[in-house]
Amino acid sequence: MSLNTNLKELESKIIDSFSIEEVYRHVEFLVEIGERLTGSKEMEKAAKYIKGVLKAYGLEPRIDEFYVYTSFPGVSEFKIIQPEQFVVESFPNLHSFSTTSEGIEGELEYVGSGSEDEFKKKDVKGKIALAELSYSPPRPEKAKNAEKYGAKALVIMNWGPSDKSIIGRGAIKWVWGNPTPESWKLMPKIPSINISRAAGERLKEMLSKKGVKAWLKVENVKSWVKAKQPVAEIVGSNEPNMFVLVGGHLDAWGKTATCNSSGNALMLELARCFVKYKEFLRRGIVFAFWDGHEIAEAAGSTWYVDNFWEKLRKGCIAYLNIDSPGLKGATRFIAYASPETWSFLKKIEEETGINIEKHIPIKTGDNSVLGIGIPYISTYATYTQEELEKTLNHASLGWWYHSDEDTLDKIDGELLEEHFKIYVKYIAGLCCSLIIPFEFVTVADYITKELEELEKISKGKVKLNTLFEKVKEFRDVAEELNALIAKIEEMHVNGKEEDKARVEEAAKLVNKCILKNSRILTSAFRSTVDPYDQEPYGLSILEKPIPRLYAIIKEMTETSGGERARLLETKLTREKNRLVDALNDAIDFTWLTIDNLRLKYDVNV
Ligand SMILES: [Zn+2]
Repeated sequence: MSLNTNLKELESKIIDSFSIEEVYRHVEFLVEIGERLTGSKEMEKAAKYIKGVLKAYGLEPRIDEFYVYTSFPGVSEFKIIQPEQFVVESFPNLHSFSTTSEGIEGELEYVGSGSEDEFKKKDVKGKIALAELSYSPPRPEKAKNAEKYGAKALVIMNWGPSDKSIIGRGAIKWVWGNPTPESWKLMPKIPSINISRAAGERLKEMLSKKGVKAWLKVENVKSWVKAKQPVAEIVGSNEPNMFVLVGGHLDAWGKTATCNSSGNALMLELARCFVKYKEFLRRGIVFAFWDGHEIAEAAGSTWYVDNFWEKLRKGCIAYLNIDSPGLKGATRFIAYASPETWSFLKKIEEETGINIEKHIPIKTGDNSVLGIGIPYISTYATYTQEELEKTLNHASLGWWYHSDEDTLDKIDGELLEEHFKIYVKYIAGLCCSLIIPFEFVTVADYITKELEELEKISKGKVKLNTLFEKVKEFRDVAEELNALIAKIEEMHVNGKEEDKARVEEAAKLVNKCILKNSRILTSAFRSTVDPYDQEPYGLSILEKPIPRLYAIIKEMTETSGGERARLLETKLTREKNRLVDALNDAIDFTWLTIDNLRLKYDVNV
């Protein structure tokens, strides 16, 4: 075998090395440690274990240490005082504002998922809001909405079957990663607690008949603690500065089996199996076991992005997030994946026979790479839409999520092996293909579809012709590049021996262009912040077509004339300029690459 070894042959060898015994050895050890909060002895023990295993496998791991702003569980009390009196068991939301010892009293108001639209429908001013976990929007945005609409406190009822009495744990810190002087002002100012599904159902039932009055008290501790984050790198042999970042959180709630001991164990197994074949990797792999994920809200992966910014910006091909693989009973594979990766994912679907439902990446998981413009792929199996709606109350990560019920029996070993196969194909495809298997015709088509949606949303108020034309221009050049890529690949397989070095250099040039286009277009079209910054946790507008443009157009549809409309018009013009500029950069860079391929490397179709 050599660097040019058939990819399928290499993938088979790596997949055949899989050992479920090895995976379970790690899962059992991590589950035995139990809850691993940032700064705790348990987290330190887990980090040391990961480092030890990676070293035994032949990698050279290190543990990065840095301060993160986190919160620790204090106490909470929750009582219904009218129309009857009873105590409801609760658990404080981390980063929640602490009440005084007298607590807070108020009328209870049900706000569904806790989205902004739901809050707009209800009057929560001076009341205690009751929201569903539901995951969209995630806890931090529910809390931000509750604050914005004047609620006194926020109670979140768990997801899962209606009779379950377990309480899911979580945090409400909206600020992604460590705060800055500016974002410090956005830290939660509202008291918040979690209650079980069964308790929530009972309250919803009471609320459907008459008014309910409640009382609650919360106390939380917040502090800066030292995070301990194991990292190991396998350097590629052909393009040593390029690598795939494979990450998953190591800090964890409850018994931790599926979130995320199973993910940690699979990452260790990937490291073991890939390091054996490291000389066949053109590009490298960085394995990162994030700390500060759960409560400090992605503080570990954010620290890594902040502190290895240039290394990532220049050389990271993609970020592969591994969280909660192998959920028992799950049958539906989904991927939150950047559109340039979709044709690559499609090929893997065909090879494995596993259908992978594709969605645009949002700001959840450990997607700290959105602003910097690195393609993101997060794949795991979840439940069918029908199960989620009819019986699970949207418990997409299992009803046992973030609780002491997240035990070994919730892991499906065979499903874990399926995840492993998919992850091997992702990593091998990205590290071993001559040319990084991403393409931008799909990106152009996706942007066109979004522009069409935006025109529809604007109800005729906005025309986006310049952008349509510019995207078409980018699509044409992306098609041209695709044709040359096919030619390079063909030359690589069938070309003369004396041309091999030239073909290799041509491929490297294309790879730089692919990375550059991802940086330019992700930052402009998918993110709402500049490349050095982070959006808030779960920011739901990121699910909308071209989020920054959407925000302006949406407001324009809600504004009828007057000064505000004029202000928005100027804003829209500037935003369109920003997007046109990004497309021009991508077009110019791609043409430059094509010219070089033709003139310098004699690649022609
Ligand atoms: Zn998780």
